[in-house]
Amino acid sequence: MNGQSDEMTGAQSSAAERLAAVRETIARVEQIAGRPAGSVTLIAVSKTHPAEAITPLIAAGQTVFGENRVQEAQAKWPALREAHPGLSLHLVGQLQSNKAEDAVALFDAIHSVDRPSLITALAKAMEKADRRPECFLQINIGEEPQKGGCAIADLPALLEQAREADLPVAGLMCVPPADVEPAPYFALLDKLARDHGLPGRSMGMSGDFETAVMLGATHVRVGTALFGTRPPA
Ligand SMILES: *Cc1c(COP(=O)(O)O)cnc(C)c1O
Repeated sequence: MNGQSDEMTGAQSSAAERLAAVRETIARVEQIAGRPAGSVTLIAVSKTHPAEAITPLIAAGQTVFGENRVQEAQAKWPALREAHPGLSLHLVGQLQSNKAEDAVALFDAIHSVDRPSLITALAKAMEKADRRPECFLQINIGEEPQKGGCAIADLPALLEQAREADLPVAGLMCVPPADVEPAPYFALLDKLARDHGLPGRSMGMSGDFETAVMLGATHVRVGTALFGTRPPA
């Protein structure tokens, strides 16, 4: 392909091309891993990117999106969803208990359930709204003090609380430590999910989603590889 036709087709085709490339990679690794085609859900993480960057991906057929901040999602997504019915929206970032109601109203899945107080707040919000987004329990898989997620040792109690509160627990989620080989952490999350009878594994980002799919990811959360680099936070 030449540069000129790239320029002429503009942002739309390049978003579509990036999406096709990520989807192809996922499909190839599903096959290598002996997993059924389509077993992995691609979550396009659109945080920091405006609606104009998101609509080309919707036009290319992407239906599942992720955001990491409730307020930003509230500003962007109601209009997009109105214009494009059938989208599903996942919260992948930390959630404060006082935003639980807003999160339950807006999101179809919440990947950052990591502490008892948040489970209590979410259960109350779901009851009130009569809406039950799927929940992933986030595990601090590298036991990093600065990171969100519940300690591995606390998982059994947290899961029991979530089940008692009638949260729809879909699985586990992790963000492995930066700058080290992620495979052992993905394998550990997969084992924890299996040990607790949970089907979902939300793991893998732009830099490591192939490895995650190889090791059992059911949901990969991909931003940069689809949207390009984000402005620094
Ligand atoms: C931003 C973010 C992603 C996407 O990261 P990329 O490296 O841009 O693919 C995935 N998961 C979480 C929790 C994030 O905050």
